[in-house]
Amino acid sequence: MIQRALCWFRRDLRVRDNPALMASRLESREVVPVFIFDRPLLASNCFGPACVSFMLESLHELRETLAQQGLSLHWCIGDPCEEVPRLARDLYVEAVYWNRDYEPSAVRRDQTVDKALQKSGIVVKTFSDHLIFEPHELRNLSGQPFQRFGAFRRAWWKRWQASAALSRSGLTQPRSERSRVDLSELSASPPLPVSTELGYESVELVIRGGEQVGRARLQRFSSGALQTYGQGRNRPDQDATSVLSPHFRFGTVNTRTAVRMALNRLARGGYAARADVHAWIDELIWREFFYHVLAGYPRVLDGPFRPSAAVAASRPASATSTNLFHAWCDGRTGYPLVDAGMRQLNSTGWMHNRVRMVVASFLVKDLRLDWRWGERYFMSRLLDADMAVNNGNWQWCASTGTDAMPGYRIFNPTVQSKKFDPDGAYIRRYVPELADVPTKYIHQPSAMSVDWQDRARCRVGSDYPHPIVEHERARQEYLDLVEARGKAGHAD
Ligand code: FAD
Repeated sequence: MIQRALCWFRRDLRVRDNPALMASRLESREVVPVFIFDRPLLASNCFGPACVSFMLESLHELRETLAQQGLSLHWCIGDPCEEVPRLARDLYVEAVYWNRDYEPSAVRRDQTVDKALQKSGIVVKTFSDHLIFEPHELRNLSGQPFQRFGAFRRAWWKRWQASAALSRSGLTQPRSERSRVDLSELSASPPLPVSTELGYESVELVIRGGEQVGRARLQRFSSGALQTYGQGRNRPDQDATSVLSPHFRFGTVNTRTAVRMALNRLARGGYAARADVHAWIDELIWREFFYHVLAGYPRVLDGPFRPSAAVAASRPASATSTNLFHAWCDGRTGYPLVDAGMRQLNSTGWMHNRVRMVVASFLVKDLRLDWRWGERYFMSRLLDADMAVNNGNWQWCASTGTDAMPGYRIFNPTVQSKKFDPDGAYIRRYVPELADVPTKYIHQPSAMSVDWQDRARCRVGSDYPHPIVEHERARQEYLDLVEARGKAGHAD
């Protein structure tokens, strides 16, 4: 039996069904849970305030739950490569436990920490948690990471069916045990920092953090909207998706638990259609796919996965491209669905998936801007900012990814708007100057006569912008450029 162990929390801010925590508690007499606020990462401004606030809220709950179980969460701000070995030595621990991470910089960090600990004679034990199947577990017939989602999906299901994951309950309660640490120790551990101490403004969260909220959301979704997911998932005006991505991002809900719960609903029969449940699980498999792509091809963080004519068609950096980019960021493009999405992102840190696809396509194919600008902007704003998933989706939308949208496929933002926000309820919520515009014109306010503009109290050109590009023309220009560049040797 280990005398004292450290359990290092990272992307797994929950107590239930947490492999590193469970193993450390089983194998050692005393467990010291620890969280390191990664100073270099925070200073890189790679994430935005919404994401940091969500993490802090989740940590508050984690600290309380751990305290109820007799464990006092230690934390510090610093470089984990130095802080974890230091803490381990100062606290005389014999072993350090953590759940594995797959982002290239996290892998490097963990290798450094591992080395330093081993050098001090401290045992390192790591576990699979953030993904259902880790990158080394699913490979194609040549032993390489998958590049096609369809094949990955088939392999994923095959493995799921064969896997012990099936027999492992995602709903296990934490081992109930006697408190080893006096609860007063909670007050002995200093209160968690506030956002501003980490260099971020504090944000009113539209999606609350923490394990309890996450589990309640999963329960509600799986007994409600899941049954109509196939129909509702593309409607930003409806509450039809799980809104669990920040919870998966920070591990307040575990994806294995989520898949099991969805499948259990199906097994109980009656109310949830197989197609809806499988459509939802497919999204979680996309998430895993993008993690496998990033782990297998870390170069995707530096540029396109495939050399692409679409990339070659993007404008060079100039005052025009900067202005177009700012109009996109601020939600002033004159395309209501695009503007509603960007304003939702800016004010809440959240954007519906369908709208994310539309705004990304608009940036790359209508404005012909470098998709990496959009990728970075999303990372700096999203509550669920996740390097692997964000990069994978941007590359998909830009037609540069492993299994991406074809280069010639271009979303028409007005058609998308009519189709997925038919009454304009979503648009009106985030673009208040369009609130009184009749539904007939809500998707294209510039088509209103001056009389209608007056009646709707929205003058196009002053209250709301004219479209910054004309979609049909922009689309044709893009396609012509892609074709010309393609002929010049940039494969799509
Ligand atoms: P649901 O529809 O309930 O789906 C369940 C879960 O499946 C999600 O929580 C998420 O974990 C996963 N999922 C859903 N859609 C996708 C997808 N397209 N790709 C991969 N996994 C998916 N998601 C992030 O978590 N972080 C990001 O940084 C991120 N950036 C994106 C950037 C772009 C340009 C696009 C088009 C999509 C991005 N997504 C990102 C994926 C997707 O938009 C969100 O995961 C989804 O909107 C979350 O809502 P939900 O939890 O209600 O999803």
